[in-house]
Amino acid sequence: MESGKLTRRELLQRLSALAGGLILTGPISGCEGFWQREPAIPVDSWHKGVCRFCGTGCGIMIGVRDGKVVDVKGDEYAHNRGRICIKGILNREILYVRDRALYPMIRRNGRLERASWDEAMSLVAERFREAIDRYGPDSVAFYGSGQLFTEESYTANKLFKAGIGTNNVDGNPRLCMASAAAGYISVFGKDEPMGCYEDIDHATCFFITGSNTADCHPIVWERIMDRKRSRPETVIIVVDPRRTRTARHADYHLAIRPGTDVALYNAMIYEFIRNGFIDQDMVENYLTFREGDAERTFEDLKRHVAQYTPERVAPVCGVDARQIEEVAYLFAASEATMSIWTMGLNQQAQGTAANRLINAMHLLTGHIGRPGATPFSLTGQPNAGGGVRDTGALAHALPNGRVVTNPQHRAEMEDLWGVPRGRISPKPGYHAVAMFEAMARGDLKCVLIMGTNPAQSLPHAERYREAMQRTFLVVADAIYPTETAQFADVFLPSAMWVEKGGVFSQSERRYHLVPKLVDPPGEARSDLEILVELADRLGYGDLIKARTPEEVWDEWRQISAHSPYNFAGITYERLKKERGILWPAPTEDHPGTCRRYVPGEDPMAKGTGRFDFYGRPDGRAVVYLEHQQPSSDPRSDEYPLTLVTGRVYEHWHTLTITGKLEELEDITTDFLVVHPRDAHRYGIRDGAPVLVESRRGRAVLKARVSTDITPGIVFAPFHSPEALVNRVVNNTVDPISKEPAFKESAVRIQPASSAA
Ligand code: SF4
Repeated sequence: MESGKLTRRELLQRLSALAGGLILTGPISGCEGFWQREPAIPVDSWHKGVCRFCGTGCGIMIGVRDGKVVDVKGDEYAHNRGRICIKGILNREILYVRDRALYPMIRRNGRLERASWDEAMSLVAERFREAIDRYGPDSVAFYGSGQLFTEESYTANKLFKAGIGTNNVDGNPRLCMASAAAGYISVFGKDEPMGCYEDIDHATCFFITGSNTADCHPIVWERIMDRKRSRPETVIIVVDPRRTRTARHADYHLAIRPGTDVALYNAMIYEFIRNGFIDQDMVENYLTFREGDAERTFEDLKRHVAQYTPERVAPVCGVDARQIEEVAYLFAASEATMSIWTMGLNQQAQGTAANRLINAMHLLTGHIGRPGATPFSLTGQPNAGGGVRDTGALAHALPNGRVVTNPQHRAEMEDLWGVPRGRISPKPGYHAVAMFEAMARGDLKCVLIMGTNPAQSLPHAERYREAMQRTFLVVADAIYPTETAQFADVFLPSAMWVEKGGVFSQSERRYHLVPKLVDPPGEARSDLEILVELADRLGYGDLIKARTPEEVWDEWRQISAHSPYNFAGITYERLKKERGILWPAPTEDHPGTCRRYVPGEDPMAKGTGRFDFYGRPDGRAVVYLEHQQPSSDPRSDEYPLTLVTGRVYEHWHTLTITGKLEELEDITTDFLVVHPRDAHRYGIRDGAPVLVESRRGRAVLKARVSTDITPGIVFAPFHSPEALVNRVVNNTVDPISKEPAFKESAVRIQPASSAA
């Protein structure tokens, strides 16, 4: 038992008793199997939809009766083959949790008090207009979420960039996936993975690095386990400082020191070269080499990685040189290797460099573009990819891989959006951390936060909680209260999931539709309605003409036709019938694309060669030479340990939703995993309160003494609002992606009772 005080079996019994007969239908292989309800609940009609939680994006069937969602089950025709995890099955309960936000509120005399929509929106529009007129467009900002629908993120981006004229549009995907996006864009010229879930069924080696797939993407993990069960010789390599549930099923577990991935991957490339595993055709015809902006050659790469022999790298990473040699061999010699990663790799100060090297390992060995052979990042939220990355709803970006600093890209979008040339600012806006720093300085006067909870999810959280008090803050959320809502000047109640409807996109570029099935509670409105009304009140009604999810989607897919992210053929009509479609899909009869950049498979790829990396001007992918840098938050005598944060299987993000479910109330998340050696050294007793302090802040958690963590490293989930471990966490950002280094915080620990 890792994530709570109940055993798994006790949790199962509790759920069966409380949630109308949940039954475990799949094998328990590390991720607790998959779930269905006993078919005892009368349902008027079943509807195809998508889980509201993680980026696995499981298809689910939603049973409705008398205007309420009364049942859900896995969609056996979707990619998840009918399986869903515990969060998936609890999609029914989330709509009816306590603390659903029911009406708008305005802060009066220090308290949020009920107001009408007209009062609330009048005040929001008045304050935004006043700030724009007095201080300019860059005095306002939008902070969004990978949990909004694509139509909502697209509309917010258009309103702020083409209407108001500021690029201050960012959101929580910056905190989890920005380094994966920066990696793909710098290597392939375009964002998003080239492979798909089907590759899992063909891989003979899984290189899982910085991902506790079993807990955080459980249905992806079940598919990996299917592959292992049907072909036991399939190799699973896990790189993680913790012995997670994923690592326990690995053939090889490298318990690496946090933030040393770049050294490890360089050593693996050294081994590929030493053992003759380089795909010469790739090197000669499909790759170029770079170090920063400088051009390099394959010979330069050889010299570069010669500094990273396994013997040299082993003490840096805290693993055996022999292990590095073996996993490098298995990676390269396998028939088809699939790398899987997520926040463990992305949330470090060298997140982009690590992402570039993972892609390089596949490019150099030719493990790419074939069934089972692909680098494949998993997305954390249900719509961070399609909703935010693809729509360009980030401070530096424009739709479909364009960037605000490129004059041609700006001109293209100004024409497509029908605004005068020069409307889009050439200046990148504030990325997530910079946005809250600007709030701390008083440079941002008004900020709209939609569908997310940065007062808890940002690193160095206390600093940014103070910053929020210096700004006119508008918070739209389906739940009230949240950690962020307590700082709101205006609170707007949002509809959730099937109370509104729209398109999600999960890890494999699959766009799929969540239908509107029931009405939202109280006076709650969809985030799209809120944005449309704000546009009208600010005088941008002519720009934001698309007003329903389908109208917005139609506009957005027509815009995509002018880019390599072409999904013009993915209509609502198709999405209503099909189980999602993987883009590119340029025409309505196109079935979607499993593997990008492969001529004959990807409709955007030209020629007859093995690859057309069309995101790059020369059609060649880039292999970067990267050096391991010192830690961004080095350990010292004062702060001798490294804290890494993460998630548990049952809960979601900052507990605003799953924390309200009585079925999960005993799954505690306010714990700190400490190795017995460190527990002994610092006088920590299992179960006792422990004070964790960093250069930024302090938090009190309950000690969980376990050999599942490497000595010198401690782990805490980030879910608990009471414990608020993000007070402690490192807010240094990767210099390219601007993603914070959540996985690199130097800390010290002591019994909370002995703290001064
Ligand atoms: Fe939902 Fe993710 Fe679980 Fe699938 S794996 S049911 S998408 S939470």
